Amino acid sequence: MQLTDRLGGTGRDRGSWLALLLILVAVLAPTACILWFMNEAMNNQRDAARQKLTEAYRGQLALVRDGLDTWWEKRAGELERKAETGTAAVVFDSSVREKLADSVILLNRDGSVGYPSSASAAAAHDENSEGWVQARALENVAGGLAKAADAYARIAAKEKDASAAARAVQAEIRCLVQSGEDDLALRVIEQQFGAGRFARATDSQGRLIAADEQLLALNLSDGTNRTRLQTMLLDYSLPMPSAQRLFLMQELPGVHFPTYDAERLAAAVLDTGSVETSDATLRPSGIAGVWKSAAGGRVIAIYRTETLIASLKNALNGPNASPDLAFSVTAPDARPQGVDDSTAAGPRLPGWRVTMTIRNRGQFEQVARQHTASYTWIGFLCIATMVVLAGIAGDLVRCQIRQARLKTDLVAAVSHEIKTPLSAIRLLVDTMIEDRDFDPARTREYLEMVARENLRLSRVIDNFLTFARMERTQQKFECVETPPASVVDAAIRAAGERFESPQCRLEVDVNPGLPMLRADQDALVAVLLNLLDNAYKFSPGSKHIRLRAYQESGRLCFAVADSGIGIPAREQKKIFRRFYQIDRRLTRPVGGVGLGLSIVEFIVRAHGGEIRVNSQPGVGSTFVVAMPCAAAADDSAQFAAERGAA
Ligand code: ADP
Repeated sequence: MQLTDRLGGTGRDRGSWLALLLILVAVLAPTACILWFMNEAMNNQRDAARQKLTEAYRGQLALVRDGLDTWWEKRAGELERKAETGTAAVVFDSSVREKLADSVILLNRDGSVGYPSSASAAAAHDENSEGWVQARALENVAGGLAKAADAYARIAAKEKDASAAARAVQAEIRCLVQSGEDDLALRVIEQQFGAGRFARATDSQGRLIAADEQLLALNLSDGTNRTRLQTMLLDYSLPMPSAQRLFLMQELPGVHFPTYDAERLAAAVLDTGSVETSDATLRPSGIAGVWKSAAGGRVIAIYRTETLIASLKNALNGPNASPDLAFSVTAPDARPQGVDDSTAAGPRLPGWRVTMTIRNRGQFEQVARQHTASYTWIGFLCIATMVVLAGIAGDLVRCQIRQARLKTDLVAAVSHEIKTPLSAIRLLVDTMIEDRDFDPARTREYLEMVARENLRLSRVIDNFLTFARMERTQQKFECVETPPASVVDAAIRAAGERFESPQCRLEVDVNPGLPMLRADQDALVAVLLNLLDNAYKFSPGSKHIRLRAYQESGRLCFAVADSGIGIPAREQKKIFRRFYQIDRRLTRPVGGVGLGLSIVEFIVRAHGGEIRVNSQPGVGSTFVVAMPCAAAADDSAQFAAERGAA
């Protein structure tokens, strides 16, 4: 564990994390703001471009709206003129087929409804003549049907008026059908109502007799030949009331009548009871989704909302309209959606609105895109600059924190390590001074102890100085050819008498004929001294320490082995870090500040060598320093020394 932890390193770590966190926030917060502003700016840009374009096109909208008024008047005029061209029924038919409106109601000059009418004017006929009375009497007598049929046939033959004759034939057919003479009845229908004289004859309610008889023929036969009735229903020149026409159309399911819907719509609007013809203004008809407008006092045009929108849209997007714009209309109860602009459709269409949508959005999208691209670049440039600056600031802060931490660690370590030998020396010296009976043997013993503490103090100070130079990268090595044995001897001498005490067995084994080293002898002695010191410190009780020098794989190795407490595998890399100590307790029995091995590693590397450790907890440790021999060291040591100095 690092000494820094013992001395409150956790607090400082928290401080540095806090500083880094602040830097991160200082980058993230403005980044988020820049991104938000960029997004807003892009949206505004798009809106502004759209606004500009819409304003440019607003004139077109007004123009198109004015055109709509003209179109509406023209449509009303067309209907008005058409009303003068034929009978109400024919005008109805052609107006619907030409799609001038979904349906129309035609008015007579007196204001009454001309079409759809419930009945056409029926001519009065004298059905109380003698012949008619006798025939009716026979029809009501049991078994008199055949005679009644004959009587009706005779009336028909004599009658000059076509409608009266047709009614007699109709009565004859009725009697034949009632007497079971279906074939005969069919023949009579075919002969009399196939074509010719009775084609326009109507009954007392104004109904077209021929049409009713054709339906009867269909019912009496297999019903396949519908063409004749179908042709009649499509022929609006025939005097057929609309109610009869609608009824007969419904009796022919599966046949398409182009005016069927119009008939129903007109009948429904008539049922609402309001047919006033004030002007061409479009008004609600009283039926949901259906509108009406008068034209010239004789026509009421009826429109469904969808058809009206479709035809107005057609009119608005005529050949003269700009291809970039799409115009439409919306009904009073609808809200224009997804459109760029809208305006009131004019006095003829109260509540309706003309809408405008710009088709070619690419124009303003392109303008917006150009601006957006420049905003994006500027935004990213700002963010990138911020990130780089924050990175630099972070590095500076980290560096400052590291420096500050080193300073405090060093001060703490110095005061802790120096205080112990100094106190011991002071105590010994004070004891000697106070000793009145000068005993040379005891004085010598005290002086030797003072010398030992002094040596320890010097070593601690040496280590601190080396470390300080290391930190300031000012450590210089004077490399000369050095015999390994002299390095070993100097180290043992410097280690002191401790290693000669009874509880310590130091074995020194220097292989003969070892090559020369090119190294700074003092530095190498410091390396071995630190390793020996550790071997001594971390071997409690009786100690067995072995120092060997030998050659291996072209390298010169110094190995310091002990039978001490050993080092757990997971700690073996960490012990080379500055201020790192496995046992972090202040009360641990041995001194030290955790600098020794980091200094050793620094010196060894600076000489182009390497250090490794083999250790087993409870068994002991072996530190091996492998150095290049003099010849090989020339280059690598020089290079490594320069690197260390740099
Ligand atoms: P110091 O000895 O001043 O504490 P060092 O850097 O020399 O610092 O050693 C770092 C740590 O490595 C020591 O505190 C100790 O925990 C461990 N260590 C070093 N050498 C040995 C060894 N021979 N046996 C067991 N542990 C060791």
